[in-house]
Parts: sequence; structure tokens; C-alpha cells
Amino acid sequence: MAKTQPRLGDQIPDLIEALLAELGEDPERPGLKETPARVARALRQLTDGYGVQPEDVIAGAVFDQDYDEMVVVKDIPFYSLCEHHMLPFFGRCHVGYLPKGKVVGLSKIPRLVGVFAHRLQLQERLTKDIAEALNGTLLPGGVGVVVEARHLCMEMRGVEKPGGQMITSCMLGTFRKDPRTRAEFLNLVRHP
Ligand SMILES: [Zn+2]
Repeated sequence: MAKTQPRLGDQIPDLIEALLAELGEDPERPGLKETPARVARALRQLTDGYGVQPEDVIAGAVFDQDYDEMVVVKDIPFYSLCEHHMLPFFGRCHVGYLPKGKVVGLSKIPRLVGVFAHRLQLQERLTKDIAEALNGTLLPGGVGVVVEARHLCMEMRGVEKPGGQMITSCMLGTFRKDPRTRAEFLNLVRHP
């Protein structure tokens, strides 16, 4: 890999070095020598969703299309960091919408999920962010988002049993108002 140095002026390596010492480690020992720079690069990558506008993700991939059946993209994997502990939560996201004259290129939906996941998040807010971004850019008849995730902050600290999933959903427009639309969506994203 070419990227060996974090970007110039990045404060994170110094902060991590101080953190390692605070934890009782010797930041000078060989195994940890490169750790501050590595952590800085990892954290920058895992939070690179800041400053990215959902409109920019979708821009150029919205098409006028006379199609009014439900579009569903299911099992989109994502990895995020919880804002309370900065520990990973990860899982799958299912997105559906009812087009009203506009559809979006399918690859853009996972990209949109990634942009919101690569910020410090709460699962509830991640779910809502995705739904509202699609609602605001496509102006569809409705949007449904379901997120299923494991939270390492809960599992590693023993707050919850390993493997437990937290499920959140956000339904907008017809997905909220019409039980049949909602049921169709939930049926489509249900695991076999
Ligand atoms: Zn947490």
C-alpha cells in the first residue's frame, strides 16, 4: 500500500500515541510504533462520510422513468461506529421506495448507505438519514428502510449476548400510510 503516512497536520496520531501511554502501553515498542499512524488512517477512512452530501452521491444517476412498482435493494452490508463508544456496529440494510417519475441507479443506494454509515452514528439515526435522503432527492411515493445490526459496544462489554440483532425501521409516505405497501416491503426483505 502506498499510503504510509497520515495526511499532513493530522492530530490523530499524536492523540493515539497519548492514548496508548494512558492505557499503560509503551508507544515506542516495535509492535506499536506504526499504530498511531494506522489508527489515524483507519479512523479517517471510517468517518469519510462527513461532508459528503446525499445529493452529490445520487447526482447524475437519477432517471425519469414511468415506473410505479416498488423498488427494493436488500441485504446491503454496512459497517459503522457508534457515537457513544466509537465501537463498530454492523449489519445489513434493506431499502425500498415507490418511484413517482424518478428512479435512481441501483448502485447509488449502497453508496448512500455507506456515506451515512461512515460517520459516528446511532442505528436509529442511520436508518432515518437513509430514508430521508432518498425521500428528499427522489420525491418518491414512499420510502422504507430496515436496518439490522450487531453492536460490538454492547456485546464486548457484556451488556448483551453475542449475536443479538437490533432492528430499526423508518417508513415514509405510502410506506407509513398504507399497511399493504408496508407489508409488501417487509415481506420482500424478510429472510427466507
Ligand atoms: Zn455504543
